[in-house]
Amino acid sequence: MSELENLILSSGEKKFRAKQLYDGLMRGKSISEINISPSLRTALLNEYEDEPLKIIKTLSSADGTEKYLMRLADGNIIESVFMRYDYGNTQCVSTQVGCRMGCKFCASTLGGLVRNLTAGEILAEVLAVNALHGGGTGAKRAVTNIVLMGSGEPLDNYCNVVKFLRNVSAEGGLNVSPRNISLSTCGLVNKIYELAEEGLPVNLTISLHQTTDERRARTMPIAKKYSIAEILKACAHYFEKTGRRYIFEYSLISGENCDREHADGLIALLKGKPCHVNLIRLNEVEERGLKTVTEKQAYTFLGYLENGGLSATLRKSMGNDIAGACGQLRAGFLRGED
Ligand code: SAH
Repeated sequence: MSELENLILSSGEKKFRAKQLYDGLMRGKSISEINISPSLRTALLNEYEDEPLKIIKTLSSADGTEKYLMRLADGNIIESVFMRYDYGNTQCVSTQVGCRMGCKFCASTLGGLVRNLTAGEILAEVLAVNALHGGGTGAKRAVTNIVLMGSGEPLDNYCNVVKFLRNVSAEGGLNVSPRNISLSTCGLVNKIYELAEEGLPVNLTISLHQTTDERRARTMPIAKKYSIAEILKACAHYFEKTGRRYIFEYSLISGENCDREHADGLIALLKGKPCHVNLIRLNEVEERGLKTVTEKQAYTFLGYLENGGLSATLRKSMGNDIAGACGQLRAGFLRGED
């Protein structure tokens, strides 16, 4: 808001115009739809995109989940997901076009990183979906929870992501509490330390997926840079600074990471720590050739963890009938499927 105020004042307009403009933008309106003076509108349109993002396709699932393909002003395509739960509505947002982390099971990284999203573009994902569901600002918002688990590695686009977190949680705007936001990372340890200092107590989620560095490096190249021990140390620091329990994502891949020995490995690593394990059955990505597990295998693995004293859940997969995980919708679109 202060950025807008400065801009408005420097173009000779009255301060209340900033609030008018801000309210309109937060309700998902484009600059040209907002009732402002023509001269201010022209000045803004010289500087900014009228519509930074447009939803070009919506897929609706029987369980109420919606997946969107969104086109950015430069023509790039991203995706986002809206899920309904008893406690509210969660939106999963992308933070980059593509990704350069190279995880072997993931569709987002297939074509590498195209570019970072700006803070405004990440916010525009939320504003567009909030408006689509009739939401306003503050208590009237339709998007109550946000997960940074779409395409991209949020901590590889650190400044834009932190600016987005400040803007989306700002009073007067959508005002989504950082406690209702989860940031998922493949484990950029140096950035976890930075995030702990931002005064933004978002939930920290780590994509772990393996229990030894050697095995992890086979599926996640980032493991060659940061060890699991370094990740655990950074998580403990994050907990100390923010008081937030941390979460490990563990995607079950047949023949790779879901036997008894892997459960024992997880228990040895995590027992007694203020954390939770989220199991997900792998969403198979055509190009990757990795296989998922049956529901029964997943529950057996969950049982091992629970008996070993870990807090764990098997994540209910939402919207399975409309597209798969992270990046799959965009990958399909880029392949020319309709
Ligand atoms: N780069 C971040 C956030 C994006 S991925 C990260 O690595 O955490 C969000 C989550 O989805 C991660 O836990 C990721 O490992 C998982 N994921 C990606 N592709 C998947 C797939 N095909 N099946 C199951 N989980 C997947």
